[in-house]
Amino acid sequence: MSNDVLFTIEDLEVSYGAIAALKGVSLEVQRGEIVTILGANGAGKTTTMRAISQLIKTKSGSIRFKGQELTKIPAHKIVKLGISHSPEGRRVFGVLTVEENLLLGTYSKGKVNPKTLRWIYEMFPRLEERRKQLAGTLSGGEQQMLAIGRALMSDPEMVLLDEPSLGIAPILVKAIFEQIKEISRQGVTVLLVEQNAKAALKLADRGYVLEVGKIALEGPSADLLASEKVQEAYLGKK
Ligand code: ATP
Repeated sequence: MSNDVLFTIEDLEVSYGAIAALKGVSLEVQRGEIVTILGANGAGKTTTMRAISQLIKTKSGSIRFKGQELTKIPAHKIVKLGISHSPEGRRVFGVLTVEENLLLGTYSKGKVNPKTLRWIYEMFPRLEERRKQLAGTLSGGEQQMLAIGRALMSDPEMVLLDEPSLGIAPILVKAIFEQIKEISRQGVTVLLVEQNAKAALKLADRGYVLEVGKIALEGPSADLLASEKVQEAYLGKK
């Protein structure tokens, strides 16, 4: 693989009061990769994503995107640098329409790219069909598509996807994972947090396994899929 490092985290520590959520996490993402972070409930996956977007304060360590230190940058400037975030739990605005939610994704950039809107509607035709519908009336899976679409509206170089399969019907999970591949094909680097380890490893180039705030394992997805430890702990095999 070419060595074109886009993003690095080094020795990242984050605490919630006295609770240490991340205890020295390091990882790296190359331009164009799909990288997944796996781990059980409470391992620190969402905390890692929120730390990257500067939605929580980091205690120590560094987060660099294209060589720029993010821990010194306010949250509202992160999107402008080229990173956007589809958060866990989707957090779409229920009283706004689908299209209004999508347009909000361009808020930090200040301009709408019509080609991007078209691309999102091609990827998720259900969003186009329901563009005038209030987002609160969408199914969970459709809201997830909307959250991903909204994150893409700013034309990011890297997108953070936190648990896109959570609480969604299997058929929609499949559709969403297929579109994550398409997002990657269009040149967007993807950092994906998932509890659905099998699906995530099948999709990703490489993975990291977080266990109670530390990276316990890392490697190419094929190696992780074959690893006995991953199979026992995350793929339900003995
Ligand atoms: P899940 O998949 O359940 O969301 P996760 O791997 O994303 O799990 P985090 O949500 O990052 O895990 O949580 C990491 C640790 O930090 C957990 O021990 C959790 O209880 C704790 N934690 C997370 N958010 C807070 C908070 N706002 N206040 C206090 N502790 C928190």
